[in-house]
Amino acid sequence: MTQWITVLGSTGSIGCSTLDVVRRHPEKYRVYALTAATRVAEMAGQIAEFSPRYAVLANADAATQLREQLPDECVTEVLNGEEALIEVASDERVDQVMAAIVGAAGLLPTLAAAKAGKRVLLANKESLVMAGPLFLDAVKTGGAELLPIDSEHNAIFQSMPADYAGNLKASGIRKILLTASGGPFRGRESCELADVTPSQAVAHPNWSMGAKISVDSATLMNKGLELIEACFLFNCDAADVEVVVHPESVIHSMVQYCDGSVLAQLGQPDMRTPIAYGMAWPERIEAGVEPLNLFDIARLNFEAPDEENFPCLALARIAFAQGGTMPAVLNAANEVAVAAFLREDIRFTTIPELIKKVMDQHSVSDADSLDSVLSADSWARTTAERFLREEDF
Ligand code: NAD
Ligand code: MG
Repeated sequence: MTQWITVLGSTGSIGCSTLDVVRRHPEKYRVYALTAATRVAEMAGQIAEFSPRYAVLANADAATQLREQLPDECVTEVLNGEEALIEVASDERVDQVMAAIVGAAGLLPTLAAAKAGKRVLLANKESLVMAGPLFLDAVKTGGAELLPIDSEHNAIFQSMPADYAGNLKASGIRKILLTASGGPFRGRESCELADVTPSQAVAHPNWSMGAKISVDSATLMNKGLELIEACFLFNCDAADVEVVVHPESVIHSMVQYCDGSVLAQLGQPDMRTPIAYGMAWPERIEAGVEPLNLFDIARLNFEAPDEENFPCLALARIAFAQGGTMPAVLNAANEVAVAAFLREDIRFTTIPELIKKVMDQHSVSDADSLDSVLSADSWARTTAERFLREEDF
């Protein structure tokens, strides 16, 4: 049976890897919709290859430009805006939705896919961090299948018992070992980090990814977001998840059992592996990924994370412990800080300072409605922008 897929964020790093897996299995997967912010030329190329029913861009200008680029005989209807994103994520003809928009912008369509009972391929960790309980509730009531695409969570999922029902102890699990590469600045002191540039920060040693997640990997905020993501996905406490720095990025994470066994998933640092796993689960399909050569790798190293010089991981722990709207505030302040760093408005070391200042000003409330999550998100953005204007960073 052909599976119809909507790819949210199709022009990004995860989106392109997803389309590469689709390209290898034209008999299994067809594209229902592609969506992007404003990269019109890339979208036109993807439409020519995959002939989706719909293409959605962020605004009317970009949509008009795209329509002008498409040939007259093109069958793809071009739409724009958030309502259209929600529509293509939840249409009854769609089987799977790849959630690969970066940041909070991915929340509403991802939530819509969950409510509509789709197979949700979750790359957009920010939506789970912001609205974990709401999102999991939507998965449950909508009857969706939630498959983690983030490589660590995909590895944990693969290393867990197939019938895992949300209770570590009942499944004989002692701990989740969440691996981290340590990013491009591993081993540096914070005084050496003050002058690093955006291009140094996005040059990840192992993974090729979008700019925002690359900066998150450099600050260790990515691991902080992933710690929260793991707690929501696997229904556990932060104390059940140990972060292990593993610079080679060969082991993508592990599960430690009470009998002393540790199960791990290994592979190339290539997102097509978790993407193909999520798309085909419980089967396996060819993903175009080179087999792992252990003799070439020869050595695997492990160390504890340096939480002193990279304070973002601790900030994420605090946000998760405080709960309610605080993870949404952490996420929004981080998005503002990373964008400011990428514009070269603030230093790398100001990213955690700004996030902490915003968190310190926030009074936590319940995150039990979409309104409360969205208003915490917008409060944190406004507050972070105000600090950026008024404070001498
Ligand atoms: P990217 O920047 O390469 O791509 C982002 C995509 O989202 C693009 O298609 C862009 O057009 C679209 N987009 C951006 N802002 C938008 C907006 N306001 N409205 C609609 N669309 C918008 O990012 P990426 O590296 O592919 O990451 C995507 C998501 O996957 C992120 O949440 C990231 O944390 C997660 N993720 C990525 C990787 C990776 O290897 N790249 C690994 C794990 C998780
Ligand atoms: Mg990851």
